[in-house]
Amino acid sequence: MTKPPKNIAILGATGSIGRSSLEVIRSSAGRFIPTYLTTNRNTELLARQVDEFHPKGVVVLDNARAKGFHSSHSKRVEVHTGPEGLLEVVSRDDVDVVINALVGFAGLKPTVQAIKHGKSVALANKETLVVAGEIITALVKEQKTSLIPIDSEHSAILQCMLGEERKNISRIILTASGGPFLNYPLEDFPNITVEQALSHPTWKMGKKITIDSATLMNKGLEVIEAYWLFHLDPGNIEVVIHPQSIIHSMVEFVDGSVKAQLGLPDMKVPIQYALTYPSRQALNGVRVDFPKLQQMTFFKPDREKFRCLQLAYDALELGGTAPALLNAANEIAVEAFLNKKIAFQQIPELIQRAITEQRVQKMPSLDDIMEADRSARDFVRKLI
Ligand code: NDP
Repeated sequence: MTKPPKNIAILGATGSIGRSSLEVIRSSAGRFIPTYLTTNRNTELLARQVDEFHPKGVVVLDNARAKGFHSSHSKRVEVHTGPEGLLEVVSRDDVDVVINALVGFAGLKPTVQAIKHGKSVALANKETLVVAGEIITALVKEQKTSLIPIDSEHSAILQCMLGEERKNISRIILTASGGPFLNYPLEDFPNITVEQALSHPTWKMGKKITIDSATLMNKGLEVIEAYWLFHLDPGNIEVVIHPQSIIHSMVEFVDGSVKAQLGLPDMKVPIQYALTYPSRQALNGVRVDFPKLQQMTFFKPDREKFRCLQLAYDALELGGTAPALLNAANEIAVEAFLNKKIAFQQIPELIQRAITEQRVQKMPSLDDIMEADRSARDFVRKLI
């Protein structure tokens, strides 16, 4: 019997993950139907997506842009706006799966709303789990729904764990490309430019995650994300630098056996897997040519040079609102670096101050997390 198509809301449809999600949908032969698409400001691309995919509704976060889009498109598609527009579309009956491809803390409330309405969530927005992992995982359990990671590392771990008993897992090893400054001497860090930091060696992504990859904060956020998804002690979540980005992550078992998931860097693979889990579906694309690859190398990350990785482990250890403080400080610092207001190595300095000089609240509610986010943003803005 053929399965009915899945109706999908894509939050952040105009971004890097959003566009790749639509490519997956385009080649799915009608198995996935995009019923809602959202953007922050990119109404030009959204208009082209509406022409091709005919969603039922869209959200344009920016009010002024939403007004313009409403005038030109409201006869063909429902047009919503603002953060409340996101909450509205993820609650709709004609949504089975929400792909959350928003960037940053803005992804938290729509994830909560989607889970509360019993939707499956395919999560690219790792910041959701970083700031509120405990609340989100409890909510998923309570609502008996699913939260499947899109992050390639976590998708790899999920694939390696399939068919295994949790008690037999001893360690997970997250791989990291190392970013553009892997072999850059620490003395030269003060001269790092925005353009250099934005040229990632293996992945093509949005600006924020590209800078996070250059500082290794991305890997730090992924350690926290892995903690909430897979429930291992932080000491059993390790990071290894693997510049070729062919092994997407590994799981070690109690007998010393290690399983890895491999493939060329292409986010369409984990996006599709999140939509078809636990089964698979054909996907065209380039395949690993092992003789051509010749070698795969591995190194220990330098936590002195890339302090953001250590800061993320510290925030995880501190618990409570510490990861929310870390995340908010990082978002403001990355934005300031992109706007050329601070230097690259000031990013970890500002984050460290945000987590050590502000109060960390244990067992936070969602409101406490919102408040921690707000106060860390103010704190870092004042420092800048
Ligand atoms: P992009 O910056 O490319 O896209 C973000 C999307 O969200 C865009 O559609 C953007 O609209 C929209 N958006 C931005 N800010 C807001 C806001 N405040 N409210 C509502 N919508 C907003 O990001 P990526 O696709 O690179 O990353 C998305 C998430 O996925 C991040 O959490 C990232 O860490 C994670 N991720 C990304 C990977 C990648 O390969 N890119 C890999 C693994 C994880 P507009 O187009 O107008 O800016």
